[in-house]
Amino acid sequence: MKSILTLLAALTLTAIAGDSAHWWRGNLHSHSYWSDGDDFPESIAELYKTNGYHFLAFTDHNTLHLTNKWVNTETGKSAKVAFSKYAARWPKEWLETREGKDGKTEVRLKFLAEYRGKFEEPDRFLILQSEEITDRWKTAPIHMNAHNLREVIKPRGGDSVTQTISNNVAAVLEQRQRTGQPIFLHVNHPNFGSAITPEELLQVRDARFFELFNGHPTVWNNGNSTNRTPSMDRLWDIVLTRRLAELKYPVMYGLGTDDGHNYHTNRVGASNPLRGWVWVRSAKLTPESLIAALEAGDFYSSSGVKLRELRQDAKGISLEIEAQPGVTYTTQFIGTRRGYDARNEPVRNAAGDALRVSHTYSKDVGAVLAEVKGAKASYTPKGDEIYVRAKIISSKPHPNPPQTGDVEIAWTQPIVPTAQ
Ligand SMILES: [Zn+2]
Ligand SMILES: [Zn+2]
Repeated sequence: MKSILTLLAALTLTAIAGDSAHWWRGNLHSHSYWSDGDDFPESIAELYKTNGYHFLAFTDHNTLHLTNKWVNTETGKSAKVAFSKYAARWPKEWLETREGKDGKTEVRLKFLAEYRGKFEEPDRFLILQSEEITDRWKTAPIHMNAHNLREVIKPRGGDSVTQTISNNVAAVLEQRQRTGQPIFLHVNHPNFGSAITPEELLQVRDARFFELFNGHPTVWNNGNSTNRTPSMDRLWDIVLTRRLAELKYPVMYGLGTDDGHNYHTNRVGASNPLRGWVWVRSAKLTPESLIAALEAGDFYSSSGVKLRELRQDAKGISLEIEAQPGVTYTTQFIGTRRGYDARNEPVRNAAGDALRVSHTYSKDVGAVLAEVKGAKASYTPKGDEIYVRAKIISSKPHPNPPQTGDVEIAWTQPIVPTAQ
């Protein structure tokens, strides 16, 4: 009887997901003139919309797009080029200008409430009201994006890296509870400024997302031996293994984002848009529907590889890649097995003091459990995996990589097999 009910429940779930779910592509990290980006929100929204995105979050530092702000059309960042494109694109009535203190022209930045209607369309394009909460612990930049906010959140600070993240997560959850509006937070670019070690990140129980791929050139997605920072894949495996096996915390999901600041010249070393994104599977293109799917792990991250099909649940992962001619694909199923060698050691300096860098771990943590070549790949858990995730690596060079040598990749979210 129980098995029939379980089967019926599974069929119902499949039917719901199958009938009404769509894949939506989005970028959850972008800067504009509202902080240190070098373009107008309208120009950036148009760029994403015309490049096949369905949603975009503006995440300017410690601000939403709703106060009075003016930009100098000559001395602002990339101002001449940004303003000439802006003035050519929009009618005169849209441009609100004044003479600045230096006698140069200034233009008022439109509020989100003013410009969103020019881009948003049901089932086509959505803009999220978001913020990069830009905090700091000593010299470590602690940045976190909060999405679908109703009010701006001031950085909360804290006595340690973990406490700083934790205090800001609490502020987000407080606003969510008080307003009833779904709001979610992700921890940004852990390696930027050697900010956050895996051991610090994994301790924040309610931090459920981090940036696995960020398009900024100095966030060291692939790790950096000089700074002794791990790759984001390595960090993720340490975080997942210890959260699940030791702390009994929920999984942490990994996001692909842009963190675009420079919209006028594309090159390695610049912080350009269109480098990394997420594909989210949800019924509707609304903040509520997208956030529910993200929190259920029903999405994947990409820096170019697109999936035609993805099934990921406690019983396994199977996927089909939308293969491009002449490109080869290798899918790695990565995970940690129960009974793994859990020893880990801090790295010490010559005086024997532990450094605030990632500990060293055995090869059991985040091992490649299987590798499959070609456009289709699947993995059925053997039963002793703590988690499994898939990384799909293509042979195609990223067209505008944050770092030289990057290829196009996709990452699915971790599953926790039922046998446990
Ligand atoms: Zn940042
Ligand atoms: Zn940023």
